[in-house]
Amino acid sequence: MKQSLITSFVRLFGRVPEVVSQAPGRIEFIGNHTDYNGGVVMGVALDKTVMVALAKRTDRKLIFASAKSGEKIAVDLDDLKKQEREYNWVNYPLGVFKYLIEAGLKADCGFDMLDCSNLPAGAGLSSSAAIELASAFAMAKLYDFQADLKTLVRIGRKCENHFVGMPCGILDQGVSGFGKKDGIVFIDCLTEDFSTYPLPSNCKFWLFNSTKKHALVDGLYAERHSECMQASKVLSEGGESRPLRSFNVDDLEAVKDKLSDVVYRRAKHVIEENDRVMKAKELLLAGDICGVGKLLNASHESSRKLFENSCEELDFLVDTVSTMKGVYGARLSGGGFGGAVMALTDESFSQEDADKVSEIYEQKFGKKPMVFTCASGDGAKVI
Ligand code: ADP
Ligand code: MG
Repeated sequence: MKQSLITSFVRLFGRVPEVVSQAPGRIEFIGNHTDYNGGVVMGVALDKTVMVALAKRTDRKLIFASAKSGEKIAVDLDDLKKQEREYNWVNYPLGVFKYLIEAGLKADCGFDMLDCSNLPAGAGLSSSAAIELASAFAMAKLYDFQADLKTLVRIGRKCENHFVGMPCGILDQGVSGFGKKDGIVFIDCLTEDFSTYPLPSNCKFWLFNSTKKHALVDGLYAERHSECMQASKVLSEGGESRPLRSFNVDDLEAVKDKLSDVVYRRAKHVIEENDRVMKAKELLLAGDICGVGKLLNASHESSRKLFENSCEELDFLVDTVSTMKGVYGARLSGGGFGGAVMALTDESFSQEDADKVSEIYEQKFGKKPMVFTCASGDGAKVI
């Protein structure tokens, strides 16, 4: 992919890029909507990435080109404002650049940028974090800006939260930045501590992407975010609002009467999900993969009943794949309201088995899900 990106860059801009970087997509392993509640979460970086090529220009223009859409958008370095809807994709690298400058990067000239990707966008695999982190690495290198990994991860998130306008937590950018091949990233979102543990070697990940996306998915995400904030406000009882992470189920039961049923259930999901993540970490370290699998299914059940961010298609995929041999567990992975289901399987689970799931799904919904197995990969880097 790197060579073809360089070739396309030369064709488009008439010179070779000065920097090429890449950043992976991720699977949310367990920890659903816990990140922006100061909770804990585990994710795995994938071997599928977004790549970015950059070279300086002599003027003060920023040119963004995308191998996928063939578009070429010009932005003035002295006027870094959010682009209109149709050029939405530019906002990811543009917002990152803006916040790098705010963090101290000195840009005396503009750049030409081309990106390419083998990571499906909008599939719950966080292509948005991948483009943010790949851009951050390439830009920091191009302008010789020294920043540690955590700073670049935070800038990616800031771009997504405040420039793009999506109130996500640190999971996506954290895993895309700190991921390791054969590793699982554990994030404490309150302290923003990132650690990596070895993945069990005899496991595989399968992704079943429903290709369904709820029309209001961003709005629904923001609504869940707001419901969680309402619960933490009540739980904090008039004091400074503390994140849901700070409370346990007993605390929640004590204020149940002060919460609407919906807000109560959202908070219960998040609080119990944090417990599941801690338990999953313990079981992983003890080598109890069957136990981890049960927690994956419990997480999905809670998304279905309490957080209501699942949908018929995802429930059906989880139910279908969970009955098959070699499957430890399955759950929706990512924000929900459509998107993908992740299954953790042993090595006996084959493409044929996955195809069977596809066929059963097609009989019910009239179209096949997008299915692939993926391996873990390294976090963002200049290549
Ligand atoms: P996800 O992060 O799950 O893939 P999002 O809706 O958060 O889904 O992000 C997808 C958006 O990210 C795309 O619509 C596009 O705007 C942007 N994006 C993804 N990949 C690229 C890329 N290679 N180049 C530029 N923008 C990208
Ligand atoms: Mg995203």
